[in-house]
Amino acid sequence: QIKTEIIAVGTELLLGQIANTNAQWISEQLALQGINVYYHGVVGDNLTRVKDTFALANDRSDVVIVTGGLGPTDDDLTREAFQLMSGLTMVEHPASMEKIEAVFAKQNSQMTPNNRKQARVFKDSLVFHNPVGMAPGMLVHYNDTIWIFLPGVPREMKAIMVDEVLPILRKELNLTEIIKSYVLRFIGIGESKLEHELKELMEQQQNPTIAPLAQSNGIVLRLTAKAASEDEAIVMLEETKANVLAKVHPFYVGMNDETIEQSIINNLKELKLTLASAESLTGGKFIEKIISVPGASEVCKGSIVCYDESVKRDVLGVSEEILTSYGTVSRECALEMSKNVAQKLHSSIGISFTGIAGPDAVEGKPVGTVYVSVFVQDKVHLVEKFELIGDRASIRHRAVMKGFELLFN
Ligand code: ATP
Ligand code: MG
Repeated sequence: QIKTEIIAVGTELLLGQIANTNAQWISEQLALQGINVYYHGVVGDNLTRVKDTFALANDRSDVVIVTGGLGPTDDDLTREAFQLMSGLTMVEHPASMEKIEAVFAKQNSQMTPNNRKQARVFKDSLVFHNPVGMAPGMLVHYNDTIWIFLPGVPREMKAIMVDEVLPILRKELNLTEIIKSYVLRFIGIGESKLEHELKELMEQQQNPTIAPLAQSNGIVLRLTAKAASEDEAIVMLEETKANVLAKVHPFYVGMNDETIEQSIINNLKELKLTLASAESLTGGKFIEKIISVPGASEVCKGSIVCYDESVKRDVLGVSEEILTSYGTVSRECALEMSKNVAQKLHSSIGISFTGIAGPDAVEGKPVGTVYVSVFVQDKVHLVEKFELIGDRASIRHRAVMKGFELLFN
């Protein structure tokens, strides 16, 4: 069992100024290759502590991936610390040096001796070209451990990982199997109901595995196949996907990057329908998600954010009678909002959101009371009441998700 360790160097990580997204991303990539990560470490820009961290990693891990501290400034100590720990010598890497000189020449600026530091690599190391920055990455064998050094800037780190590190690691570790995943998205079915429906299938199934994944945008299943080739993995995944969908097809939204908003837009396009929203507590969050999808312009008319009662009345034309007899958080108001927004924005569908996100109750109705109404010209005019739980942010988020759910059905 290969033990891999990821070390992020940088005091700003310890101070909480930035999150260690590098380790998260690298772990995810390694998991997809079937490489086990045993440890994550974070250490500040301090020579002794970085050296000690490296020494510990060298003892306990077979592969160590280090990000950060390869820059030109004095607080970038990764090379120095590793040299201190290993005693390996450093040499200048001519190709990297030329590249750095070329960048400075182009910018017409003066190089400092510090800049030369970025072209220094360990003797006998394998140097990774950095396609988007100056400091190269490198791989070096020390004792029985493979050490990989990468820049801290996420964009640079990712480019080198994908282009060079992952293929080389596969070779070095003799990985013949590949791992491929499908992410299947569902809506309108609770996680426990989904697991119940799929219980037998999940228990019988070894490869691909079927596992639920926690996500805020609906319910997600991950199918993971191990196979000798990508083609073989796809065949296996397609078969498992078909078995899953045979049981829970009505709730299936889409796969991988296909989100609920994406599939709603695709459906509306096919039906040649347009969409408009009237949003009170969601404040435009619903339409924001819709407009984020490329191609939304074909189906999306727009939105009226009608937070205050006066906007519901004066802009959206909700009748005074409804507002005084039922209040803004009511079936009647939601129905009127969805119909009026469709008419005012010349849309075939209107959807409305009104409710109480908290922290305080309104009109004597408890926090979390939300009405979502859908109006489809000449066809449907429905409203649903929800009692959502959570804080203000999650109630608003959940209300948007309920809107997607209603539109999807
Ligand atoms: P540079 O040449 O830019 O100095 P470097 O290899 O020395 O690169 P750092 O100085 O450690 O890297 O980090 C550069 C920037 O990259 C940081 O300011 C931070 O924004 C980002 N960064 C560094 N480490 C991480 C990490 N573990 N996760 C996410 N972002 C990081
Ligand atoms: Mg730096």
